[in-house]
Amino acid sequence: MLKLSCALLAWAGALALPRADAALGPAEILPVSGGTITVAIDTGLTAKRTDLRHWIDRAVAAVTHYYGEFPVAALRLEVRMRAGEPVNSGREFSGRLIRIHVDPAVTATDLNRDWMLTHEMFHLGFPSLDPAYHYLEEGLSDYLEPLARVRLGQTRPTQPWQDFMEGMPQGLPKPGEGGLDGTRDWGRTYWGGCIFWFLVDLDIRQRTGGRLSLDDAIRAIVRGGGAGRGGLVAGADDADWGWSDRHGVDPPNPRRMGTERGRSPLAGAVARLGRGGDWRRRPFRRVRSSGGGPAGNDPGDQPVGVRRWLTGTRHG
Ligand SMILES: [Zn+2]
Repeated sequence: MLKLSCALLAWAGALALPRADAALGPAEILPVSGGTITVAIDTGLTAKRTDLRHWIDRAVAAVTHYYGEFPVAALRLEVRMRAGEPVNSGREFSGRLIRIHVDPAVTATDLNRDWMLTHEMFHLGFPSLDPAYHYLEEGLSDYLEPLARVRLGQTRPTQPWQDFMEGMPQGLPKPGEGGLDGTRDWGRTYWGGCIFWFLVDLDIRQRTGGRLSLDDAIRAIVRGGGAGRGGLVAGADDADWGWSDRHGVDPPNPRRMGTERGRSPLAGAVARLGRGGDWRRRPFRRVRSSGGGPAGNDPGDQPVGVRRWLTGTRHG
């Protein structure tokens, strides 16, 4: 439920860029790898500017580490004040603007715990799609944000598995529901989309023996010009994005997988992720069974190997 406030606002919003207003202070230019961020902060916010800057730096570090560089050359980031959760109502607009709100009483600890700004920045690396494929956009940010943050030690090693095991069941189809394409359901959009990318990641890793992963596919999308394509509305049929020629395997096909995997196998895949070992405390250590030896390190040895696989920065 933590991710509800971001989700609801994005869900209800339109694509048009919002107008600026006088409540924002003077813009500051923040150089990042591959570009600049123009940061404007609400003049009414009393949070220390150094704390806010550290918060922004952490989010930039997570997405930059994942993509190899910041995914767009120019971004405007507006930090506005709104009562609510410590950080609330984040939204990304067409690869050019992120607007995010913080509560007047936000603390440095709150900011250090925040996931929302990183989630919004991950949207910058993926094209805007037709509304029928909105689950691809939201699911990708939901999937990458905890993995990127844990890879940099910004959050506990157990955090991604806690997020996934609590969130993914909300993305499972109800009886009689079909695939994800065209869904307008919140849980299926955000967490169904997250399951989709999780399965794509596993699929790529298993078919390539761990040589490649979703990381390679997403970076290829960015290099292929998919990132920051303001106002682009693409269909899922356009979704090769330069991936297949480089890697010699079939590209992830959002339309096909979104449909085929929108049924019962999803539940099994989610359940398997949580099995084996005490993932709430030691996600990478398998509990010995009475008759078995210690677990191997085979990345395909689900689910302990899978968890280790996904949070590692190297393949295999
Ligand atoms: Zn989002």
